[in-house]
Amino acid sequence: MRFARSVGQAIGANLAIISLAHALSPCTQISDSYDFVIIGGGQAGLTVGGRLAEDTNHTVLVLEAGENGDAYRERIDTPAYSYFDSLWTTPLNWKYYTVPQPNANDREIYWPRGKTLGGSSAINGLYMTRPGELEINAWKDLLGDMEGADNWSWDSFYAAMKKSENFTGSSDAIAEEADIHWNTSNHGLEGPIQASYPGYTFPQVGYWSQSLESIGIAISENMYDGENWGAEVSTSCINPSNWTRSYSRTGYLDPLPDNGNYDVLANAYVTRIVFDNSSSADNLTATSVEYTTDNGTTISSVNVTKEVILSAGSVGSPAVLLYSGVGPKDVLSDAGIDLVSELPGVGQHLQDHFSATVTWDTDSETAGTIYYDDGADKDNELFLSYIDSAVAYVNSTALYGGNVSSMESSILASIDQYAPNTTYDSGVIAGYKAICNITAKNIFNGPTGIIELLLMNSDSNGDIGITAALQHPYSHGRIYINSSNPLDYPVIDPNYLYNPADDEVLLQGIKMARSVGGASPLSNNLTSETAPGSSIQSDDDLISWIRGAASTEFHPSSSCAMLPKDLGGVVDANLLVYGLANVRVVDASVPPIALSTHLMASTYGVAEQAANIIRGFYNGVPLATSTASGSESDDGDSSDGSSTATNSSHKSTSTGSDSAPSNNAPKDKTGLLSSICMFLVLGFGLSM
Ligand SMILES: Cc1cc2nc3c(=O)[nH]c(=O)nc-3n(C[C@H](O)[C@H](O)[C@H](O)COP(=O)(O)OP(=O)(O)OC[C@H]3O[C@@H](n4cnc5c(N)ncnc54)[C@H](O)[C@@H]3O)c2cc1C
Repeated sequence: MRFARSVGQAIGANLAIISLAHALSPCTQISDSYDFVIIGGGQAGLTVGGRLAEDTNHTVLVLEAGENGDAYRERIDTPAYSYFDSLWTTPLNWKYYTVPQPNANDREIYWPRGKTLGGSSAINGLYMTRPGELEINAWKDLLGDMEGADNWSWDSFYAAMKKSENFTGSSDAIAEEADIHWNTSNHGLEGPIQASYPGYTFPQVGYWSQSLESIGIAISENMYDGENWGAEVSTSCINPSNWTRSYSRTGYLDPLPDNGNYDVLANAYVTRIVFDNSSSADNLTATSVEYTTDNGTTISSVNVTKEVILSAGSVGSPAVLLYSGVGPKDVLSDAGIDLVSELPGVGQHLQDHFSATVTWDTDSETAGTIYYDDGADKDNELFLSYIDSAVAYVNSTALYGGNVSSMESSILASIDQYAPNTTYDSGVIAGYKAICNITAKNIFNGPTGIIELLLMNSDSNGDIGITAALQHPYSHGRIYINSSNPLDYPVIDPNYLYNPADDEVLLQGIKMARSVGGASPLSNNLTSETAPGSSIQSDDDLISWIRGAASTEFHPSSSCAMLPKDLGGVVDANLLVYGLANVRVVDASVPPIALSTHLMASTYGVAEQAANIIRGFYNGVPLATSTASGSESDDGDSSDGSSTATNSSHKSTSTGSDSAPSNNAPKDKTGLLSSICMFLVLGFGLSM
């Protein structure tokens, strides 16, 4: 892997980074054909790409629309810069906006998304939390007796999430000051992604759990074990040996050995997937992928001999399907795209965590005051590892006490009325109802967070905030297109607060945030409330304030939902798109239920599980969990190729054949046994 090795060598040597950035620039020549073409080199795309490329029987190409990120590497790598020198202003962000949201004062709400190698894992806030057992099992239950449904049981998914993780606890001093608790047995210890804690903290972080405990929300030591409720300082994807961000590129790309079977092309914007017209109309075979490296002036094409894997994220994956003619026929016809395969669920079932923040003045030093007021520690490496990570997942009992059942009843009563009115397909509506029903019956009234609370200590004005974020919205939106030009942005309509059940739950979350701010010892650090402010007290006033102030928690999901087709599903339990023989979706768009967590850990889980499924199919046996993990090299210099599983470790568990177990087979084997195409990317020098 020429690119990865070179980048690893270049860490800390910016000039080298910049020159090598051209290695995978549009000037780079790639092969005509690959076994697997992965669309999107983001969090999931690089994860599944790295795992597939571990097997030298496969040739793998990743096409990433964004830059490779090298010009911004220090900003990516430095945890605190996710607040203080955010990549939001750079080309590494898609800078999307939603359409005006009628129930949020018609605001167009900003939706940043990563546009670089590593995708959103390169620009995000580094929280590493996990969903709860109940919601993962609800996801599996929605699949009924579908082949492969067991891949998505809690036990399977938990193992997949752990496989990506390499956990290290904090120092004793930080653990004591921040009141951090953990249970090592709940964590993965050999995976490529470093999960740890910052090397710097503040007294108010330590007050978090105590304040929550004082109002009845217990400390959770098993939040990573499926018991997703209670207060904790979460892990963050920080490499504690050098205090840098650990993300899909540093974990799954940079350390890979150069086996000559893997290429990653940045600045390659995929415009559509092309299908073989002679293949069965209800089981179309993808034969190539078209992309542009020059903003549409020329369209290039690369052939696919096994599969296309769509990892363009919750916005990009449905968009690529739609621009390829796969989706709801009304959307395609309105956009002027020829229908290739009708699939009404594409882009539907979109769910996001809507959130708002109560803020207070404080006399205490915060991360924000240190940074913005030029505090002594501003450039200290340990300070720059600090990011906010105190969280609490609050369940319905904590929010509603004895009224949980009546709230559950009113949610259930709302479902028929607030089904989406943006589809002609009864399956999508049935899917909405199925998701909401199982959420209300199995998740809402159980021990799972329905609101997340987060301590914010990094505001630019020095305030301390507590965010409340709705975790299971009963308002579902959609991603669609209104143009035939694939370079035009898709339309994002999360449909926030359409169902009043969401207003009600978020209202209780905001009240809970206020209660935490009023609880000792945190309250001793806070002076006056700055937002929404003490004059806003009634429920009506608070809901009005939420409509004007709330925003995304950056967690859109479910827009290519894994569901039965007759529930508006897009992929089956093996991640294969309905109606297509050899296209899978592997990213945050797949879980059919908004999960009560930040989405990184679950997205690594989806991608690791996808690699298991795909390698299991092509090699006859699944990739054993214990043989395929490694970790970033400790010093952040991954040029030694250490860590992630080697081909030899895989080969020792593989039959090496293409024989397929039946439970995860693509629906047509056309082209699946094509010869392996080995290739060389022309040298870096050519492109400099
Ligand atoms: C600002 C922000 C903060 C967040 N904070 C956290 C957090 O603290 N903790 C957490 O767990 N989660 C967080 N999240 C959410 C989490 O990062 C994402 O849910 C997750 O990374 C999504 O992974 P993905 O692989 O689905 O998509 P992405 O990582 O977004 O990858 C999609 C990739 O596809 C590329 N792409 C899209 N369209 C095309 C195309 N047509 N052709 C080629 N390439 C294409 C994109 O450029 C991108 O690189 C945050 C997200 C954001 C945006």
